[in-house]
Amino acid sequence: MTSVLQQLMKVFVTRRIPPAGQAVLTQAGVCSIQQWDSEEPIPQAELLAGVAGKDGLLCLLSDRIDKKVLDAAGPNLKVISTLSVGYDHLAIDEIKKRGIRVGYTPDILTDATAELTVALLLATSRRLPESILEVKNGGWTTWKPLWMCGYGLSGSTVGIIGLGRIGRAIGYRLKPFGVKRFLYTSRQPKLEAAAELKAEFVSIDKLAKESDFVIVTCSLVPETQGMCNRDFFRKMKETSVFINTSRGAVVNQEDLYEALVNGEIAAAGLDVTTPEPLPTDNPLLSLKNCVILPHIGSATYSTRNVMSALAANNLLAGLNGEDMPSELKL
Ligand code: NDP
Repeated sequence: MTSVLQQLMKVFVTRRIPPAGQAVLTQAGVCSIQQWDSEEPIPQAELLAGVAGKDGLLCLLSDRIDKKVLDAAGPNLKVISTLSVGYDHLAIDEIKKRGIRVGYTPDILTDATAELTVALLLATSRRLPESILEVKNGGWTTWKPLWMCGYGLSGSTVGIIGLGRIGRAIGYRLKPFGVKRFLYTSRQPKLEAAAELKAEFVSIDKLAKESDFVIVTCSLVPETQGMCNRDFFRKMKETSVFINTSRGAVVNQEDLYEALVNGEIAAAGLDVTTPEPLPTDNPLLSLKNCVILPHIGSATYSTRNVMSALAANNLLAGLNGEDMPSELKL
């Protein structure tokens, strides 16, 4: 028995994960699991201690896996599996240098995230949180012709920054609302997705100038960091609505605040911010024309369970030297 245990590979899991993934890990019987068994994030000191000597690491997007963590893990670390499609929290260059494989969770969260983006867009453009508050606080005195008016999708131009898996799924869902024209940017033109939406591949300037709704769904990489800044917002129409469900750092939040306060754009809806959680005294939270959600893009029970199982299976496959169900090409 002792010899079998000695052969088990050691993994560290940085949080309590949804039951489907937990079951995959425990039933596999091929690794000894050490886990930060909590709903709350692991403190840095616990993470550094926990990863030491491990063969595998299952982490979340809130865990920054940088050089320090990789050094603490040491040379045994073969695989990192993240419970997310975004991987901007992983020091990819260092990981690559050390020959560590990475698993992630694309595709399976696309529908849930696209659905949430549409919900956020409608909530922002039709001023739902503000309206609900007025009903509760007695601000609803009578029916008034221009009270709580917003902007509709019918006949509009929608600009999608990053027509990847999620961007495409958002476009597909918005089309039946009567959107007249889709514009998009990506590093490369996306011929198939663009044909489906009759979307035009345009410069970011043209997208900013001509869109009634700007939706950010690109990945966070050095080129997209701070991309939505003062210059960008100044190019947008005063009647336009800005939505971000990618990563907070794509947006310069001070510039966004100025644009909202000065009426350079009509409204913003954010599912992602810098930092997360956003401190409750952040100026953006004082604005009626800014709707902020706590990073719930993929938050359906089924999606999170499927993500959890995929992350566990990626980890196991990586440990066994097999093809992962979803491996990030480094
Ligand atoms: P994809 O890789 O399919 O799409 C990312 C898109 O970003 C690609 O079309 C890519 O273009 C584009 N892109 C990259 N760099 C640039 C750039 N410099 N300018 C314009 N576009 C660029 O990923 P997904 O659609 O699956 O996910 C997108 C992102 O959404 C994730 O990286 C993650 O950060 C975020 N996300 C947020 C969630 C939430 O809860 N709010 C949930 C899930 C994901 P190209 O293909 O040409 O390189």
